[in-house]
Amino acid sequence: MERASARPPWLKVRFPAGGRFGELVALMRESELHTVCEEARCPNIGECWSRGTATFMILGDTCTRSCGFCAVKTGRPGTLDTDEPRRVALAIQRMGLRHAVITSVNRDELPDGGARMFAETIRWGRRLSPGTTFEVLIPDFKGDEAALATVMAARPEILNHNTETVPRLYRTVRPQAVYERSLRVLRRAKELDPGTLTKSGLMVGLGETREELLAVFRDLAANGVDILTVGQYLQPTPAHLPIGRYYEPREFEELKAEALAMGFRHVEAGPVVRSSYHAEEQAVAARDA
Ligand code: SF4
Ligand code: SF4
Repeated sequence: MERASARPPWLKVRFPAGGRFGELVALMRESELHTVCEEARCPNIGECWSRGTATFMILGDTCTRSCGFCAVKTGRPGTLDTDEPRRVALAIQRMGLRHAVITSVNRDELPDGGARMFAETIRWGRRLSPGTTFEVLIPDFKGDEAALATVMAARPEILNHNTETVPRLYRTVRPQAVYERSLRVLRRAKELDPGTLTKSGLMVGLGETREELLAVFRDLAANGVDILTVGQYLQPTPAHLPIGRYYEPREFEELKAEALAMGFRHVEAGPVVRSSYHAEEQAVAARDA
């Protein structure tokens, strides 16, 4: 794959770390919590944390998988921290979040892949913040339907599972994942609770073609997905997959228009879009669509 040249100007704008940034850093350290914002080196952390929003990463900071684009540590995870759901819920309460996003590392060595901890976190969250809506960005649980049902029984408002890229690139981008299995997770979630909005996201710039991208959009729409996010892949360190090319803002607009025509309730597409970027606004837009 060809490598992209220097970062284009529309990706150079950075929010200074002001506002509530320091408060969130202190809260995460004090509560011994992890966020995907930090662990995945998200480029939006200045903006999101200054606004007082973050995405919690439960089940520890070490993932059993090794996706080629992801900066989260890979290895053998430690023992499960069963108090984590309560601490996440307390942090959500202290941050005053109206919409909380919770994701995790993959814990393929656990019998339920960590599904029970997702459910516990939602339940604790509802107890402490009854007015808050909950979005979970879940792993594929190796296709275990009982694990998915455990999460769905806690009735998240949004069930998110990212396809990340086109099927041809799974071998390098998500080597332990299976495209059809990810589609099935999304379809089954909708079948288990049609009232839950389902969501999925992709990165562009990894070497996919436009036709391949549109084929994934169609598959997601056919599997009942309500919300789609599309953002530019950015290489977190030189050891990660190279950037094939930078999409122009105009191309994101075109992809958004194509996706909306396929029937998604809401599409968020742009250079700095991540699945949890402006997640509350995405949720409101999809609910009202
Ligand atoms: Fe965190 Fe998501 Fe914002 Fe990135 S886009 S900083 S992961 S909340
Ligand atoms: Fe990163 Fe998720 Fe892949 Fe683990 S499964 S390496 S956390 S993207």
